[in-house]
Amino acid sequence: MLATPETTVPRLGSYYLQTYGCQMNQYDSELLAWMLEGMGLAASDDAERADVAVFNTCCIRDNADQKVYGRMGDFKRYKAQHPRQVLAVVGCLAQKDGEDFLNRFPQVDLVLGTHNVRELPEMVLKVQSGEGRFVRAEKQGDTFDLLARPTRRFSAMVTISMGCDQWCTFCIVPYVRGRLKSKPVLQVVSEVRRLAREGHREVLLLGQNVNDYGRDLEPRSDFADLIDALRGAPGLDRLRFTSPHPAYFTQRVIEAMAANPAMCEHVHLPLQAGDDQVLKRMKRGYTGAEFLDLAARMRGAIPGLALSTDIIVGFPGETEEQFQRTLDLVRQARFDSAFMFAYSPRPGTPGALFKDQIPEDERLDRLYRLIELQNSISMELNAIRLGRVAEVLVEGPSKKDASRYTGRTRCGRLVHFEAEGDLTGLMARVRLEQHFTWGFVGELQEHETRPGDWSRAAA
Ligand code: SF4
Repeated sequence: MLATPETTVPRLGSYYLQTYGCQMNQYDSELLAWMLEGMGLAASDDAERADVAVFNTCCIRDNADQKVYGRMGDFKRYKAQHPRQVLAVVGCLAQKDGEDFLNRFPQVDLVLGTHNVRELPEMVLKVQSGEGRFVRAEKQGDTFDLLARPTRRFSAMVTISMGCDQWCTFCIVPYVRGRLKSKPVLQVVSEVRRLAREGHREVLLLGQNVNDYGRDLEPRSDFADLIDALRGAPGLDRLRFTSPHPAYFTQRVIEAMAANPAMCEHVHLPLQAGDDQVLKRMKRGYTGAEFLDLAARMRGAIPGLALSTDIIVGFPGETEEQFQRTLDLVRQARFDSAFMFAYSPRPGTPGALFKDQIPEDERLDRLYRLIELQNSISMELNAIRLGRVAEVLVEGPSKKDASRYTGRTRCGRLVHFEAEGDLTGLMARVRLEQHFTWGFVGELQEHETRPGDWSRAAA
């Protein structure tokens, strides 16, 4: 049994937790923090002196691996000074490297794969009592027994599924996160309702491929059913999800979104490439024309919908002509924003074995050209919104300038503005005054005095 932080536990030391990668990892880190606090440890920014240091890792791209390997060097020095420190590496890179990680870095005590993160407290205690160093990287064993433990008081993440059965040829996720496993509908609904009751007015539903949700449940369900089941949850002002897959995005899901007033007018819809042959080689399951048709149907059903995307350039075999088709599709789709990457071969995936890898300078050249195009589109779309008053859910003081607050519109756009007092977790209306590729600087018009003062207003 895990200790629970609800029990009053005397503080027995400190922990340092560093998270890399996606929102799924951030969600896991909320659970890790909760478990560590349940052991009586207090959060600390001091990596060197923390009694337990945990790295929640990502391996989606080569530079994500390298960042973690690089940090291990620091801990060689720290452990020389503080030999009782426990160093744990968990998550995707731990799953991928397993025993190798322990062999390569003698300063690491514990390697826990994606299916074993829940064993952290038990394994830390074993290391502390001198039982040795451990690797746990099972191939399966996910459970949904731990509920979301959000660190923010107004916004929460809820996993609806783990793993993925799509096996895109560039992606390592199915190898490190396993096969699709969906959380039962009733469990998701009760978790979301509980969070909303506790004041979390925004919930982000998480899954590697949310549109494949429910295929493995008995009785079978789907993502449209889930969105319907969440309609009308008291106190839930904003509902978001990530990541969907274009090939699984049914008309029923679009209709369920349109019918749910909490559903935000923003979808992150990964395109990956605009050329049909490249999409086929990536094993994505749709064509460029099908993607554009889906985007048009979504925009038709949900007024003001913002679309963001992921794009990979320089996938093996991609010709200049095929890359130009990606640029054409980006011009037609007019995404509000995009995460853009040069292809990075992941050992163990089919893409890494393709013989026709594109040289790095060519991949980077394509990436820069794509970024230039997308930035100009983002600026154009943001310019259209200047002067409007947007509903912003305030996330807290800006990290770069403490005199400013930062928040997001329903469309997911970032807005900075000046304000006095603590507005964190409140809705504010902000006039959009200056635009950038990333969002806006605006002027505060009015704000709630207590969470929930306002009924929903369109962004
Ligand atoms: S659908 Fe997403 S998570 Fe699944 S293999 Fe493809 S890119 Fe990876």
